[in-house]
Amino acid sequence: MSDKNFEMSFSNLKQTIPLLIKHKVAALPINYALWYTYVSNEVPELNLALEGVIKQERPITEAKTKELYRQYLSESQEVTAWELRQSMEAMLIELTQSITDTRSETNGFKITMDNCVDNLTKVEKEGLSIEEVMALVRNLVKETQNIRRSTMSFNSALAEAQTEISALRSQLEKSQQEALYDALTGLSNRRYFDEELASHAVHPNLFLIIVDLDHFKKINDNYGHVMGDLVLKAAAKKIQACCRDSAQAFRFGGEEFAIIVPNSTFAKTRSLAETMRRSMEKIAVKDKRTGEVLGDITASFGIAELRKGMNPLVLVESADKQLYEAKRLGRNRVMPIM
Ligand code: GH3
Ligand code: MG
Ligand code: MG
Repeated sequence: MSDKNFEMSFSNLKQTIPLLIKHKVAALPINYALWYTYVSNEVPELNLALEGVIKQERPITEAKTKELYRQYLSESQEVTAWELRQSMEAMLIELTQSITDTRSETNGFKITMDNCVDNLTKVEKEGLSIEEVMALVRNLVKETQNIRRSTMSFNSALAEAQTEISALRSQLEKSQQEALYDALTGLSNRRYFDEELASHAVHPNLFLIIVDLDHFKKINDNYGHVMGDLVLKAAAKKIQACCRDSAQAFRFGGEEFAIIVPNSTFAKTRSLAETMRRSMEKIAVKDKRTGEVLGDITASFGIAELRKGMNPLVLVESADKQLYEAKRLGRNRVMPIM
């Protein structure tokens, strides 16, 4: 690969991460491949389609991503982009590490880079296509030798690279964080829930609790959205505090929460839900403007068991049905009874 091509891939790479953040998509291989290809403008039809989706200004769903991916990207493109990114990350880590080495020991960087080349050669021998990465390494070594003639500029170039690397890394972490966690309550979000449930689908003895705050609209109407948000945060905290062992709490949507309870029994799950229900009643949120304390928060709970071979959607549906029953019977209760 020529220097120009290398610069291009690196610049594409750097543009891809901010896009993942902007559109709140997780830094997963499939998203990465899609947006990397978008930035590189290799498949103009994909760019048109993706721009159409962006224009709708709605969150880009997983289903849409998969559809675009199937329609416009071949598997090989994903592998190339993903490999390139992973190799780049490995390189960046090596580079960061070598900064300390060079400062203490003049040959450190060269040795690190040589090792890096050796490792990559091994990978190449095993049949992976990494010419691009190899070219990058050769290029870096060559450049390093040039730069090293002047230790001063070498150090400052490395320091600059280090700053850029840590910025990229924290951007990446932030985008992953945002894509899987709910900003208001800090709980895992619906996307995380879907992924988690899919991964559990093979194990029976799993229970799902769905929680919906009672008459929450009234809280917003009577005290305002800010207080509503505080109540949601307090409710999330109570739910989280009740989650012991491997129970996992999620913000399922608006004022709804979900708890995945693996390796349990109905009796144990119901008792967990009862504990949560009683802890809701203890919520007291103070309105700072008026000094008034808002209490009497209640919630309704529906439980369902994941049976062997059951589609996760069906599990959610049956828990929802029980939740609806709890609402119908007067709220502030856990259904079913047994
Ligand atoms: P029910 O007992 O039947 O569940 O009644 P409800 O009022 O809780 O149910 P409904 O679904 O009608 O209202 C839910 C309300 O939750 C409507 C919506 O404005 C509010 N809500 C959803 N998400 C948020 C949020 O993030 N913050 C605040 N403050 N309110 C939210
Ligand atoms: Mg609701
Ligand atoms: Mg509600």
